Parts: sequence; structure tokens; C-alpha cells
Amino acid sequence: MNAIASFTLTSAGLMLAWLVSIAMIAPVSAKEEGSLVELEGDFVQGGLLFGKAPVGSKVLWGGREVRLTPQGDYVIGLGRDNRTPVLLRVEAADGRSQQQVFDIVQRDYEKQEITGISKKIMSPGEEELKRIKKENALIGQARRVDSDRTDFLTPFQWPLTGPITGVFGSQRVYNGRPSRPHFGVDIAAPTGTPARAPIGGVVTLAYDDMFYSGGTIMIDHGYGLNSSFLHLSRVLVKVGDKVEQGQVVGEVGATGRVTGAHLDWRMNWYDQRIDPQLLVGAMPETASAR
Ligand SMILES: [Zn+2]
Repeated sequence: MNAIASFTLTSAGLMLAWLVSIAMIAPVSAKEEGSLVELEGDFVQGGLLFGKAPVGSKVLWGGREVRLTPQGDYVIGLGRDNRTPVLLRVEAADGRSQQQVFDIVQRDYEKQEITGISKKIMSPGEEELKRIKKENALIGQARRVDSDRTDFLTPFQWPLTGPITGVFGSQRVYNGRPSRPHFGVDIAAPTGTPARAPIGGVVTLAYDDMFYSGGTIMIDHGYGLNSSFLHLSRVLVKVGDKVEQGQVVGEVGATGRVTGAHLDWRMNWYDQRIDPQLLVGAMPETASAR
């Protein structure tokens, strides 16, 4: 129950924890003998679900076909604005089929005001806009990687420890101007702090200085799941590198659109934004007490 541990215990958090626990009752009953539907994880916006089906099955999530590993494992990501309920349908190779409706907990996202962003970043000129377009194309290209890696089956680790200064999904307001939501978890740490791969994978993007995200790395974990590290001061890997869980891939920095040194860790499942914090549980005590 990683989801519960990672939320602050405000009354809203307790309410959400309660809702999550209710939602998580559903998959337990689905694990009956001979059941084709086996799905567990955080049934909440931003959550990641892990499923298992007989080898060779066809799995449809909300009408979208989900790719299975040769062993029948699969992963499903619930985006920030994923609506509820969602129908899961499993069609086995032997002609049997089964479906089940899952409720997805709808989150209330907080608003976060950020001031002190430089004018250059707030109002990019013609040259900068060209650069942003080019960089977005590179990010899009890296995000379309859909490999057969099964790193996603490994439990995740925090890339580093430190106070959490930004959460998934919050509505960002930069210098008073409403902007896109924040999709990562921000962990404050001094420039130069090592940032480690949360699980293994292959580097699909390694860029020293992007306009918004500064030093940026993307790691493919397989079956549409990937991690991004933003605002790095140093990028220590290159595209195509295979990285192990816990390997240092970069160093924390304050590059791009930031007001201080931190690591912004983001995750995607195809076009869906995932909340990394749901996968790693509470930040270790020593760091959060700082
Ligand atoms: Zn951030």
C-alpha cells in the first residue's frame, strides 16, 4: 500500500487513503481460481497497475489494447485526469473471456504558486521558441519508444533522498500566470547530489541543457513505461546506455525553469502521466526530517 504511506496525513489525505483502500478491495476478489482478471496496484489517478493474464491473451483497458510480455505480465498507467470507471477485458487464447469494471479514485490537485522565474524563461523569443520546438520533438521521439524490456516488474527505489518540494498533478502558477500542471515529484537536494536510476532500463534521451528542463535524461523501462530526470547539473549517461537500478545517471542541478536545485522525477506510461511517488512509498525518515 505504497499510496497510503506517501500521502501527508491531513484530513484530505486520510480521506484519500480511505478511498484508495476501498478501491483496492476490488482486485482481490478478482483473483479467484481460474479468473482471467488479475490486476493490482494503486487504483487512483497517477497510479500504476500490474496485471497477469494467461500467455497469449488479448487485454483491453478502456478499449485500448495493452501489450503483454511473453509470460503474460502487463502494466497499465492511470493518467492525471483518468476518469472512472474503466472496463478491463481479457480474452484468452483458448476462447474464454472475462471482464471487470474498476473504480479509479479521482484526486483533488493542489495549486502551487511559483515566483521569481526569469523573464527570459517566461517570455521566450523567436529563437527560443524554435529551440523549444526542437527539444519537444526529441522528447516526443524518446517517449514513443515501446520496447520489450521487463524492468517495470522490479520494485522502484527513490533516485535520492531529500525534502519533497513539488508533487504530482499540482496546478502550477508561474509568476502569477497559470501554466500546465506539474507532472513529477520534486526532491530538493544540493547541486551535485547523485541521482540514481529508480529501476533499470535503457537511456532514450540525454541532453545537457533543454530550455525548460535543463539537463535532462529519459530512461525506458519497457512496455511504454519510462522515467525522466530534469534540471540536472551533469548528465552522466548517453543515449543507448543500459543502466542498472541504483546506478548514478546524473547529478542534481538548477538548470532550466527552476528557482533552486532539485531533481524533478517524472514517469510516463505511453501518453499517460504517472505519479512516481505512488511507486516508492514514503521518503526515508533521515531525509524528510532535514
Ligand atoms: Zn518539478
